Amino acid sequence: MSDFKALGLKGNTLKGVSRAGYTTPSPIQAAAIPLAVAGRDLIGCAQTGTGKTAAFVLPMLHRLYEMPRPKRGRPVRALVVVPTRELALQVEKATRTYGQFTPFLSLAVFGGTSIDKQIRTLRRGVDIVVATPGRLLDLMDRGVISLSKVGVFVLDEADRMFDMGFIKDIRKIAAEVPKQRQTLLFSATMPKAVQELAQSIQTEPEYIQVGQRRNPAKTVDQGVCRVLPNEKIGLLCHVLQTQDVESVIVFSRTKYRADRIVRKLSKKGFSATVMHSNRSQKQREKALAGFRSGRFQVLVATDVAARGIDVDSISHVINYDTPNQPDSYIHRIGRTGRAETEGVALTFVTEAEEKHLIAIEEHISRRLPRKVFEGFESDAPPEILPAPGSVTPKTPKHKKSKASRRKKAAARKRNRKHKRQRSTS
Ligand code: AMP
Repeated sequence: MSDFKALGLKGNTLKGVSRAGYTTPSPIQAAAIPLAVAGRDLIGCAQTGTGKTAAFVLPMLHRLYEMPRPKRGRPVRALVVVPTRELALQVEKATRTYGQFTPFLSLAVFGGTSIDKQIRTLRRGVDIVVATPGRLLDLMDRGVISLSKVGVFVLDEADRMFDMGFIKDIRKIAAEVPKQRQTLLFSATMPKAVQELAQSIQTEPEYIQVGQRRNPAKTVDQGVCRVLPNEKIGLLCHVLQTQDVESVIVFSRTKYRADRIVRKLSKKGFSATVMHSNRSQKQREKALAGFRSGRFQVLVATDVAARGIDVDSISHVINYDTPNQPDSYIHRIGRTGRAETEGVALTFVTEAEEKHLIAIEEHISRRLPRKVFEGFESDAPPEILPAPGSVTPKTPKHKKSKASRRKKAAARKRNRKHKRQRSTS
């Protein structure tokens, strides 16, 4: 507890930390909390699982105490915008956990669920709103929520908001928050669009980066399995049967494939549930609660739906389909190995998916170990990659340009020969 006290937190906020059971601040907390407590704008470049939620919720609670008390009612004074409903629920839950000894009330605001209940709660008054952009704008348009008293504005997972096309919405929301405010922006990666957004909505932000941005948590044991497309389900079942898999998130490329995987796993007797954007909010919450409680061993999900899932002790992440973006790979495997626990991440790679693997390995600057499971023989053709142990694999572009250089040289040689023959004839 004293470690958190040294970061500038006090009273009931400290009590909340202690009730959460934290004794030592994580690196992002140690770096961000003192600056945020002092009222600075921040850019926190940190992956999920690093403790970043507490890194902004704790100073936010601290700052709410420091702000002048509203003369009338209970206006929204802290606003957290997140990309998904699941994350909204999680962050709001965190505000209740850390803020359980404070007088502040919070509300999660997101689409796909009754707006009337949210309107009623907002009318009664809340201090903290955790929202997804679409529903928040809807409530603003209806005149139900005013952001004119917001003093702390947090954007979480800004890169994902950009991926999901929310940047325009964020700008609209930011324009409604008073200029005199504190803005905290968190993002796992820092693409140009996020840097530009930060520049336009923050004032002299302090930049904090925790860990190597490109590298997944060190506690994740990563591996790659070469397979044929029709062998994937067999390999998944084999891993579930033979490895010490306590709980696993299986990532699929599409919603359709996710449903099919669950059907096949259930037929084989595994307890599996699914999470994707075609499922209703109720179904998603039920799936997550069942997975959290251990009723389901397997959660099959697509990228967007799985964003922000904070379930402790996920022992395995399996990329049933190789992610086609290196950033997705980092995010996906960040579901395991959280808060210093050990985790395993396996990626199934077919010949057609090899290009994605090459991009991932280039991004993280290392070749991932190839894994073969005893009792499971794959008929996949050998890789066209360098032998194990060699450094960064070559990109197909590189290979192609070398081949085309050779072709061009041969063509030049042929031309010269023809010229010689014509001149001598
Ligand atoms: P987050 O990156 O915010 O999603 O947090 C990842 C996990 O770490 C959550 O389960 C938190 O409860 C946990 N956590 C956050 N801060 C600490 C801390 N200082 N000590 C131990 N666990 C923590």
